[in-house]
Amino acid sequence: MSGFRCFRCGAEQGADFGGYVCPACGGNLEVRYAWPQGAPAGWWRDESRRDVFRYRALLPVSKLELASPLRVGLTPLYEAPRLGAAAGLRKLYLKDDGQNPSASFKDRAGAVALVRAREIGAQVLCGASTGNAGSSMACLAASVGMPCAIFVPEKAPAAKIAQLLVFGAKVLAVKGTYDDAFDLCMQVCAERGWFNRNTGHNPFTREGKKTAAFEIFEQLGKIPDWVAVPTGDGNIIAGIWKGFRDLKEAGIADKTPKMLCAQSEDSRAISAAVWALQKTGNRSPDWKTVAIAPVAATTVADSISVDIPRDGLAAVRAVIESGGAAVAVPDAAILAAIPEIARGAGVFAEPAASCAWAGLKQAAQQGLVKPDETVVCMCTGNGLKDVASARKVAGDPLPVENTVAAAMAATESLA
Ligand SMILES: *Cc1c(COP(=O)(O)O)cnc(C)c1O
Ligand SMILES: [Zn+2]
Repeated sequence: MSGFRCFRCGAEQGADFGGYVCPACGGNLEVRYAWPQGAPAGWWRDESRRDVFRYRALLPVSKLELASPLRVGLTPLYEAPRLGAAAGLRKLYLKDDGQNPSASFKDRAGAVALVRAREIGAQVLCGASTGNAGSSMACLAASVGMPCAIFVPEKAPAAKIAQLLVFGAKVLAVKGTYDDAFDLCMQVCAERGWFNRNTGHNPFTREGKKTAAFEIFEQLGKIPDWVAVPTGDGNIIAGIWKGFRDLKEAGIADKTPKMLCAQSEDSRAISAAVWALQKTGNRSPDWKTVAIAPVAATTVADSISVDIPRDGLAAVRAVIESGGAAVAVPDAAILAAIPEIARGAGVFAEPAASCAWAGLKQAAQQGLVKPDETVVCMCTGNGLKDVASARKVAGDPLPVENTVAAAMAATESLA
């Protein structure tokens, strides 16, 4: 790591900078590196590790003895031809990040943020969350015996609250939205001097999230044409894009993919900003002048329900600079996508995660994504995290009398 650079104004800070955001303008910071020159092939991965720290050479932490013992990352990348056919896509892959320790993509951020927190001697971890970032932090903190405080909106799904409680976090169920929880967390965290994991605000979460790009490159053996990412705050899409940029800047890969930002129509602040910029046709505008208007989010996909995207500018830059696209889909399409992915590929996604597939289908219909392009669709969270939403679209079991005749009659269609 060589320092930090502001997404908004470009101001640089040294590697010893101890704050979270740009001291000049308050913008979010990106971690910068001085990549080695003339290093032997394969220098960027440690083949002995089967988790995100396989890519330790590309990460901003070094004391891996401080890492959680839980296995985060190296999740499967499945070829999904039957699911792809439903949208006319011939080279579709599904990255199942529901298979992380706390069952969501957020563990990538938590794994790296935890090492950073311990490297700088933090005693307590804190963060605001729609649910997954918090349950991930709580899980990882528990794995090393660290205390943590998590601020969630009181309406977070029961399974996510259960995870937080079971891992022993101090859970503050804030009377309000995720945005209210975020603002309250910021204030209490500063007051107490705790380590703040908040999305966008903490530059290290993006660094953890970028590891998905390294895995995709290794598992696919090449850079895909598109990566479809469900988007709320914008930290995941910005993180994955950062990973692909790092691969290119470090001389490991020779191209980057186009990033597809998939949002709910009922939480589409980032997409609206992307569309406005795309109308101008300018791929390198003055980022200081780009504003992202807040929305009043109402989507059923709680993990991407965001009024003010906390990593909005980085996300907009990811889409524009990659030559990608943004789509917004109705909640009905997000819910319908849950059984589609489950039946088409055997992967159970929570609503926010299924938004990636719903958005990708729409992008294929619009001709943005072409049939022969190689596409990776991110599945960011396991469906068991929100069973109530899945039950709205999964149908009902057959009530059957406890007799062979009744069961035979009920199974006629499978005979
Ligand atoms: C957090 C989350 C997202 C969205 O990530 P952002 O960084 O907020 O854009 C998508 N899916 C799941 C399951 C999540 O937990
Ligand atoms: Zn700045």
